Amino acid sequence: MVVLLGTAAFGCIHGKAAAPYPDRVAQVYPVMETRPVSSADDAADDPAIWIHSDDPARSLILGTNKKAGLAVYNLQGEEIQFLPVGNVNNVDVRYGFRLESGRETDIAMATNRTTRGLSVWAIDAGTGRLSDISADALDTGMASPYGFCLYTDIEDGTIYAFANAKDGQVNQWKLTPEAGDRIGITPVRTFHVGSQTEGCVADDEMGVLYIGEENKGIWRYGARPADGDTRRAVDRVLPDGRLTADIEGLALYTGTDGDGYLVASIQGWNLYAVYDRKGDNAFRGFFRIAPHPERGIDGAEETDGLDVTSANLGGDNARGILVVQDGFNTDPSANQNFKVVPFSAIADALSL
Ligand code: CA
Ligand code: CA
Ligand code: CA
Ligand code: CA
Ligand code: CA
Repeated sequence: MVVLLGTAAFGCIHGKAAAPYPDRVAQVYPVMETRPVSSADDAADDPAIWIHSDDPARSLILGTNKKAGLAVYNLQGEEIQFLPVGNVNNVDVRYGFRLESGRETDIAMATNRTTRGLSVWAIDAGTGRLSDISADALDTGMASPYGFCLYTDIEDGTIYAFANAKDGQVNQWKLTPEAGDRIGITPVRTFHVGSQTEGCVADDEMGVLYIGEENKGIWRYGARPADGDTRRAVDRVLPDGRLTADIEGLALYTGTDGDGYLVASIQGWNLYAVYDRKGDNAFRGFFRIAPHPERGIDGAEETDGLDVTSANLGGDNARGILVVQDGFNTDPSANQNFKVVPFSAIADALSL
């Protein structure tokens, strides 16, 4: 069902006057929320979804608490592990990293502002437990590593990490197998976006890296180390595009044959924007996540990070899920958490 809201509402956030709210905004509802994070105020930041290859019901939602560490939730939103590693900001997941022994492991990796480095964990598909396999501090050389995403080059299986800083610098590293089945990093590229960045996501099949420049728009770069700093704009803030600041989390919904969508958190409007994955990234619409009173779940506001999957998670979630950080966890008032929306609801609302 498509629900269109009126034009009367105006966004205003952090004291910044936002551009006029869009005319057409679809509405969807969360069906699940995770347990609140352990830290008060703005603490939850960015999720990642890990899909269990044999038993999707045992998939995991990882969520950063940027004041304490990484929380691991099951698909019921229960916290099943907490890794108190410091101020991890953004987290991402990739599959099948080949370790020094030849064994393969799925990994989660995050920017860590406590160590100014990267933290990397092996995900044990048997137990659903994460364990640290960083070879050392994995120093980024950045004063405050902030946004983060992973990229797998499907030609050779190499996995790369991207971290960016608040000045818009982006560093790229190749992940390397190290002694004791640990993971190290080797720098391969640095470039500058221009001003503050955070959200990023790589499209492995297309060899593309999307980066949000928070006050400017969404950029599309090549994901390979040799791709330099050539880019084009997917969208920009008004009046040059259709968005408003801040552009926050970015995530990719991957279908077959290059189908799929790029989803972006448009924080200043408490909205999400959807673009085609292929071609010139045609705009498909805005939606918001409204309260679901029957389930007693509040809506999502001021979303920082988000993640989306097309994996069949059963029932309402057969077309996958969207997970978003919620800046204000209410009903009852509690620490921040993450909300889950069935992707089928978004597809229906935007006629995807
Ligand atoms: Ca925030
Ligand atoms: Ca993420
Ligand atoms: Ca941000
Ligand atoms: Ca909320
Ligand atoms: Ca709530």
